[in-house]
Amino acid sequence: MKFIADRMLGKLAKELRMLGYDVVYYRGEDAYPLIKLAREEDRVILTRSTRFTPKRPEDRIVRITEDKPSLQMRELIQRKIISLTEKPLFSRCLGCNTLLIEIPREEAEGKVPDFIFYQQREFFRCPRCSKVYWPGSHQDHMKKRIKELFEQT
Ligand SMILES: [Zn+2]
Repeated sequence: MKFIADRMLGKLAKELRMLGYDVVYYRGEDAYPLIKLAREEDRVILTRSTRFTPKRPEDRIVRITEDKPSLQMRELIQRKIISLTEKPLFSRCLGCNTLLIEIPREEAEGKVPDFIFYQQREFFRCPRCSKVYWPGSHQDHMKKRIKELFEQT
């Protein structure tokens, strides 16, 4: 399942990427390019807006009713649109949705804070925007949050 999130859902898009989902974040105002892209790339549209209505049988539109990103995630889980087991966690760049690649530790030196470099063994880089990631405390925190989210639902 691949998604395209409208401009109201930037935070949700990042959270879904954290779960490993392929999510394009569409910042534009116009509905047509979004629908066109969704059709071309076979993506489910996530929107808060009521403007979107399916016009062709292949159009899949999920209207999110919740306002808060944490509740929006829960809404998607409850409606069985996403699941925790489907994708590897933290495999995508949160900024641009690209799949991360593991890099040799030396390559991270100077690109992350020194204390992180000395603490961590594994580093990943986004091949598109070059952002460097590591499995640090932020991820532990997120894993806990994701686990809670799925358990509560
Ligand atoms: Zn990136």
